[in-house]
Amino acid sequence: MTTPMYIDPHAHMISRTTNDYEAMAAAGVVAVIEPAFWIGQPRTYVGTYIDYLSTIVGWERFRAGQFGIRHYCTIGLNSKEANNEELAEQVMEILPRFALKDGVVAIGEIGYDEQTPLEDKYFRAQLELAKELDLPVMIHTPHRDKKRGTSRSMDVVEEHGLPPDKVVVDHNNEETIAETLQRGFWAAFSIYPGSKMGNERMVELLKQYGAERIIVDSACDWGVSDSLAVPKTAKLAAERGIPQEQIHKACYANALAAYGQSGQMSEEDWLNPSPIDQRTLYAGNSILRGGAAPRIEEPVSPAQAEDKLIIR
Ligand SMILES: [Zn+2]
Repeated sequence: MTTPMYIDPHAHMISRTTNDYEAMAAAGVVAVIEPAFWIGQPRTYVGTYIDYLSTIVGWERFRAGQFGIRHYCTIGLNSKEANNEELAEQVMEILPRFALKDGVVAIGEIGYDEQTPLEDKYFRAQLELAKELDLPVMIHTPHRDKKRGTSRSMDVVEEHGLPPDKVVVDHNNEETIAETLQRGFWAAFSIYPGSKMGNERMVELLKQYGAERIIVDSACDWGVSDSLAVPKTAKLAAERGIPQEQIHKACYANALAAYGQSGQMSEEDWLNPSPIDQRTLYAGNSILRGGAAPRIEEPVSPAQAEDKLIIR
């Protein structure tokens, strides 16, 4: 049996452990996208923002590679911190230089949280930035007042003249899916354990709507979340009779098509990866701790790589 390939296009890996990376790789996750977001603790200086963005374009990308997973990211000022105007102004100034770095596949995650005037101001400014840099956009829709917030996000995108096929609207649910699809946007779903969107509900939506422009992600972060949500949803969908071709779209191909429009992400990246060598250093540091034996792989052909389904 070959392991299908999955992409988790919304995963805050900076908050996750090496166990997560190992489990994701073993379950078939070949690539992740790490959206810039808030880190729980509000940032008080632009300097900490610069270091955070440097981490997601730099160290985290390296760290993922050490576990055999390709790492991409999105760059943006999140909606919560948009409410700190002094910080937001300074962050807007540094965003363009980060947005042009290797592996940046979108401006995001941006949008509304409490739908305040400041959130609106910086959402619009970042849509203009995406337009200028010709990058896709990842939209975080609010968890409160979701239906109105989602419609409003799409209204604003249209007002700024961005084509809907370059915009992924994330955190959809049963209430928002029809409108998101009908307006031509990519509809992403974050599968959270215990609340919001579980994977049984996701499978029901696949049954009802098919998989055209549907994207499944884990949105795993520092909160209650499951870094294996994409492979688990794919498995459940197969068990419940969703055709493989639809599972492939929702858990792999659609994310690649949407974010591949950045020109920064292609299948070649994981079909012909350089072999894992955990002796590799990033700015003088490795992921190893004193005395740990490094994992060193012999180069493998893509065909051999597909055959690996051993979860140790
Ligand atoms: Zn997120």
